Amino acid sequence: MIVMKFGGTSVTRQQSVAAINFLVKRDLALQPILVVSALSGTTDLLIKLTQVNDLTSQSELIELIKVKHWTWIEENCSADQSLMDQAYDLVTQHLLELSNLAKSSDRNSNYLNWHDRVASFGEVISSQLISLLLVQNGIKAQAVSATQCIITNDNFGSADFLDQLTIQATNTTLLPLINQGIVPVITGFLGATVDGRTTILGRGGSDFSAAIIGHALKAKEIQIWTDVNGVYSADPRVINQAKLIPQLSYQEAAELAMFGAKVLHPRTIQPAVRSGIPVRVLNTFNLDNQGTLIAHNTCTNSWVKAITWKPKVPLINIYSADMFLSKGFLEKIFAILAHNNISVNMLSASEVSVSITLDNIGNLEQALLELNQIATADYIEGFGTISLVGGHIMSRPQIMQDLFNLFEHNNLPVQMLSYSASNINISMIVASEGINQVIPLVHEKFIV
Ligand code: ASP
Ligand code: MG
Repeated sequence: MIVMKFGGTSVTRQQSVAAINFLVKRDLALQPILVVSALSGTTDLLIKLTQVNDLTSQSELIELIKVKHWTWIEENCSADQSLMDQAYDLVTQHLLELSNLAKSSDRNSNYLNWHDRVASFGEVISSQLISLLLVQNGIKAQAVSATQCIITNDNFGSADFLDQLTIQATNTTLLPLINQGIVPVITGFLGATVDGRTTILGRGGSDFSAAIIGHALKAKEIQIWTDVNGVYSADPRVINQAKLIPQLSYQEAAELAMFGAKVLHPRTIQPAVRSGIPVRVLNTFNLDNQGTLIAHNTCTNSWVKAITWKPKVPLINIYSADMFLSKGFLEKIFAILAHNNISVNMLSASEVSVSITLDNIGNLEQALLELNQIATADYIEGFGTISLVGGHIMSRPQIMQDLFNLFEHNNLPVQMLSYSASNINISMIVASEGINQVIPLVHEKFIV
């Protein structure tokens, strides 16, 4: 079994929809299981729909969603009138249901679940359209709602899956289909609580869905089909010379996702890692490309594989003479950040000071108030991170030397430095305005 996940662009454009047909036919013997995103832009419109209250705005948004799907049908089904009719009927029916849900009193009685139900319509429709098209092309396919497979907690908006229940539900739902040679086309992005209430897994969550399904079925491979060739050594939109990385370890990929690379959702690979399933990132617009394989580390040479950066990263500096020789000071700091819903990214500490970069600012004001009761805490803006990622990176001291020479020549002081224990990431905090200038130089020095 292989899981093939097709992202928003891939399920939307004519060329890539044709590619989906081609790939499923070509790899039918591998028992493909499809996971699909909503048509591009649909989830954005659905989220907007949860934010408006008046009927006019609601019907305007639903009209925009309709136009998207109408265009899709015209582009992909026009050769066959009966297929077109089926597709129009299917979309019309779902949009009617959506319009009723948008107006329904569930909004007031159970907002969080209502929100996720509204947000789920994009994938519900796209999975049925793709399945319809595959059937038309002679493939035995069937749309499946992930609510029958991925069982989650009730953290609406960004739910997490429950392992054992998901393994059980996924196998019970999908194996009978797969054993009959049917290709399941599963809604990405969605799950359901134990008592069957629809949840979403967070924006961009379809990659995560694919990894969960792959993990639950012990698939041979999880393929993430997208609109780029794979994972690059740097964002190719910024660095022209960025190179495609043929292979990454799970850890390298996780570091890349955390530190700003946009190809994969940060949580995506975690279920795949746990089951040791290789993840391949591939391009629906360039089928001959080998893409990037993410798997257990087989390569032992140590060098920088990729550079990522975040132009703006919030930073808190904390000083206190009381920290000197004291016990449990950091614990207090972390407790304050945790209960104010702030997640920490990088940290560097001395005897009397701690610098921390934040993933999110949560309840920042309250956190600063509390921190200032036990120390002097300053919130600082204007900095960003540059990260170098590569296996065994720290066994090459030359890298640090070259890096610091480069920063010195460019007059860019390093504010904070973090060497990860995993030996695959060096991150620096520098002034935001220096980042764009220095990134191409770092790339040229270490990658090209
Ligand atoms: N359609 C969802 C979103 O736009 C999930 C996904 O595309 O991965 O966030
Ligand atoms: Mg995506």
